[in-house]
Amino acid sequence: MDAAARARLIRALAGTVIAHADELTGLDQAIGDGDHGLNMKRGFETVLAEADTLAAQPLPAMLAGIGKTLVMRVGGASGPLYGTLFLTLGKTLPEESGMADAAPALEAAVAAVKARGKSDAGQKTMLDVLVPVLEELKAGGEGLPARLAATAHAAAEATVPMRAVRGRASFLGERSVGHMDPGARSSALMVEAVVTWLEE
Ligand code: ADP
Ligand code: MG
Ligand code: MG
Repeated sequence: MDAAARARLIRALAGTVIAHADELTGLDQAIGDGDHGLNMKRGFETVLAEADTLAAQPLPAMLAGIGKTLVMRVGGASGPLYGTLFLTLGKTLPEESGMADAAPALEAAVAAVKARGKSDAGQKTMLDVLVPVLEELKAGGEGLPARLAATAHAAAEATVPMRAVRGRASFLGERSVGHMDPGARSSALMVEAVVTWLEE
């Protein structure tokens, strides 16, 4: 993988988050404080501004760099959590990494998000996308990229009937039911962007 491919990955991630900022904010207006799209857009605009510098580094250092920027720029609950996700991916991936390294790295990253958020799947958060995607990645096999994208999309949809027990949405209790979790949606968008990038 060369710097141009890494830069395309950054542009794919940042592009989708920025393009869907209004949708993410809309979801957060329903069950949170209405800033998830703004938070994520702010973070990924900074990532995009640093794209060339970030992409000049090997993949692990680039991912860790994205994580640091997200921690500093996104804020809210999602900033430290997405920051932890990318930082841990960066720390876990070997310098010369291939597809076989993806599952162990995502496993470590998801575990770090759970520890940081004191949360797990089933609580109507980003983990309700990240955990099923990890399971699909570990399963491997035929047509994996397309399956990962489909899993991410369906998993975000599956947060609609859930009741939130973590984050601001949990303040709503039963009233959080019937809305998609904003962080689940942003996670699905990022997984779909990675898959599109992989298939380029
Ligand atoms: P805030 O809630 O501080 O305004 P954001 O709106 O940017 O932050 O992010 C909200 C999203 O963060 C939620 O939709 C949820 O997916 C995720 N989230 C919040 N708390 C947790 C947690 N403890 N563990 C995992 N994800 C969480
Ligand atoms: Mg919010
Ligand atoms: Mg907020």
